Amino acid sequence: MDGPIPIVIGSPVTVATPAVRRPRWPDAELDVAGLRAEGWRPTPFRDFVLKVHQRCNLACDYCYVYTMADQSWRDRPMAMAPETWRAAAGRIAEHARTHGLSRVRVILHGGEPLLLGASGLAPLLADLTATIAPVTTLDLQLQTNGLLLDERVLDVLRSHGVRVGVSLDGTAEANDRHRRFADGRGSSAGVDRALRLLTAPAHRAAYAGLLATVDITQDPVEAYRNLQRYAPPVLDFLLPHANWDAPPGPRADAPYGEWLIKVFDLWYSERPQPIRIRLFEDVIRLILGHGGRSEQAGLSPVAVAVVESDGAIEQVDSLKSAYPGACETGLTVFGDPFDAAFTNPGVVARQIGLRALCSTCRSCPLHTVCGAGHYAHRYRAGEGFLNPTVYCADMTLLIRHVISVVSDDVRQRLAASHRD
Ligand code: SF4
Repeated sequence: MDGPIPIVIGSPVTVATPAVRRPRWPDAELDVAGLRAEGWRPTPFRDFVLKVHQRCNLACDYCYVYTMADQSWRDRPMAMAPETWRAAAGRIAEHARTHGLSRVRVILHGGEPLLLGASGLAPLLADLTATIAPVTTLDLQLQTNGLLLDERVLDVLRSHGVRVGVSLDGTAEANDRHRRFADGRGSSAGVDRALRLLTAPAHRAAYAGLLATVDITQDPVEAYRNLQRYAPPVLDFLLPHANWDAPPGPRADAPYGEWLIKVFDLWYSERPQPIRIRLFEDVIRLILGHGGRSEQAGLSPVAVAVVESDGAIEQVDSLKSAYPGACETGLTVFGDPFDAAFTNPGVVARQIGLRALCSTCRSCPLHTVCGAGHYAHRYRAGEGFLNPTVYCADMTLLIRHVISVVSDDVRQRLAASHRD
């Protein structure tokens, strides 16, 4: 488990809250008891996302927390209270003990988690460590827009072994187009300052990587080169959250696939690859029959649970882009173990691999690599999530290209080794 968790953070924008409409699949049609009877068993959670602050100091235009269907952040405490993080820590330790987990990752998230400040982070981190570390190896991470990173905060994070993932969307221009303050100012200068600090020798060990939401209006080569400048240990490219009711623009072609291919070709041609790009590494691993490590590709079970600032146990919060209440489980760290979530159809749907694919995807020759893409991107109102990803054409283009490039490369290397 390395690199930043690929979840984007952003800031409040007022939108109307649509009426709740539970989807047929999985909520009504997935037979969890039947799966259990057939021998399916849940995968224990290994990643725990704590929403320690609900507000953000940016107003990103694509942020699913504030700009999309679910507006539940409005009704939750602004900051997670000590009794809530202590209860969450106890439940995580309980889960690790129950399942004999040798390692768990806890990701501080928001909103913007650094709004807690150094004085708020210190007791939170001390309590998490005191409760979880005696039971299992604790990998602490924090995902931030970077703007509030300073020496004092970094000292606190470093003293608890926290690694920091920073969101940055490529070129400064693209970043400033989307990742803006509420008054419209861009954030790239502030992120640049933060990354210079984080990548300095004194703090570099705390650097987990970069998370970039793909903006196809920017030149892919310039975007990649700018991200590369900060030498991230891992770079995550995230497709903007979209679904069949809110598609990512006209779908006549595969613009995201084309954009990613340009970056892939550049990255793959560099030997050794100067940075790790998780999406590309995952596609190659999956082509070769290994498991994937992110939600964007493959059929591996999703083992992530979210704890909101009020203690609610929820599903991965990218689902907030689909419909209001999509993440709810009805459980809370004050009353329920994490295991109680394993009867929730939404949680189960993300753990059953092939059985969560629609007939179109099951008959697709790329399904073991694509895995129908990100679960949130399969949503269609009423029907739910038994669909291909809305990025199907893009995934098809990217995966076919990677197969072609990697196979040509293997052929040429074999031919060269025979000649030697
Ligand atoms: S989303 Fe498209 S490319 Fe992916 S498995 Fe389904 S049909 Fe195949």
